[in-house]
This record gives sequence, C-alpha cells and structure tokens, in this order.
Amino acid sequence: MTHERKRVIFCDFDGTITTNDNIVQIMKHFDPPGWKRIVDDILSRRISVRQGVGQLFSLLPSARREEIVSYVLEQAEIRPGFEEFLAFCRERDIRLLITSGGIDFFVYPILSKFDIPRDDIYCNASDFSGETIQILWPHSCDEHCDNDCGMCKTSIIRSFSSERYEKIVIGDSVTDLAGSRLADWVLARDYLLEKCRELNLPHASFDTFYDCIDRLSSPVGVK
Ligand SMILES: [Mg+2]
Ligand SMILES: [Zn+2]
Repeated sequence: MTHERKRVIFCDFDGTITTNDNIVQIMKHFDPPGWKRIVDDILSRRISVRQGVGQLFSLLPSARREEIVSYVLEQAEIRPGFEEFLAFCRERDIRLLITSGGIDFFVYPILSKFDIPRDDIYCNASDFSGETIQILWPHSCDEHCDNDCGMCKTSIIRSFSSERYEKIVIGDSVTDLAGSRLADWVLARDYLLEKCRELNLPHASFDTFYDCIDRLSSPVGVK
C-alpha cells in the first residue's frame, strides 16, 4: 500500500522563531545573582535543562511578572518570513507545531499576533502564586527519554507515527539535536547546522523563514 505521508513540522521557538533566546535575555536584563553559574551548570550538563530552567526562574520574584512580560515582548524580534511561513503551511496543509523549551508567560504573548491554535504550541508552564516564579512541566519526558528535558521534544516527535507522517524539525541549538535524529530531515541554523553537517543528518540550512518556504517547496526537500 502506498500513500503519501502528511508533513508535520516541529518548530523550535527561542533562537528560531525569535532571533534571541528569551530566557537568556530575561536573565541578562534582570540579572538575579547566581544565574550565570546555573547556565554554566546546564551547558556543562552538571544539571538537566529542567533543573536549570527551574532554578533560573526561582531566582525571580513572582511580583515582577508584569515587568518581565513587558520586557520580553519589547525585546523579542521575530525572524523574517514567519508570518508568510505560517500562511505557506496552511496553504499546503502542512501541520505546524511549535515545540518550545520556553515558558507560557512569554511564548503565548509573543505568538498572540499570529494565527496559531493554542493546542499546536507546546511549552512549559508557570506558577506565580508563590514568592518566586515556579516552572511547571506539562510535557515532560516519556519512557524513551532519560534526558530530563522539561519540555521533551523527542517525546512529542515520537508520538507521531513515522508511517503516517514525514517529520521535519526546524531549530538552532543543542536542545533540537535529539529530535533532529528522529526526523526525516532538518532545517537548521547555528549550532544545530554544524551538528547536522558533522553527523551527516539530512538537512538544509536556513537564515530566514523565507528560506524555509523555499526548502519546503523544492521537490526533494533536502539540499
Ligand atoms: Mg532554540
Ligand atoms: Zn526528554
């Protein structure tokens, strides 16, 4: 039996849809004592991403919520072509999911001007009822992932059948790598692009979402 698989795209948020990493921007701007050490701990893998992101936000008082949200909205810059890319996916009946390691209180507001169903946005959640910000993890790792991701991209990708779906990952960083190995092919920039080259994963590079449209329009898909 032959049937064409439906395309599904798993698109990263920070550093992909937005030009900067919003968590890093928040930490740099509000500069709570100790945040740099936690980032070092994450990067050197002494702690998991879930532990690290949880610790980072626990440094910020819940009372500063409004200030933090306004700051993120003010500095966030959307990568060119994103709106056109959304329209392209709709026209071509490509399923587009946003898979973000970011937090709901900035991911949803930044994306609110675009027509994206909320159910298609996967990110971490937050609780401002305590003294400091607490991060919640509604999409944690399944039994196949022991990475303690927080928002587990591979678990979401695995939940789509490879027989029925052609899976494409769009991303930029180390947190997109494991998912890229599960995908049919990858649209990559920055660190993820270097890794895709090094590991010989089927991929194409992108700088803007216009490039993504171009790559997805070409018959082979991969260059
Ligand atoms: Mg990213
Ligand atoms: Zn995981």
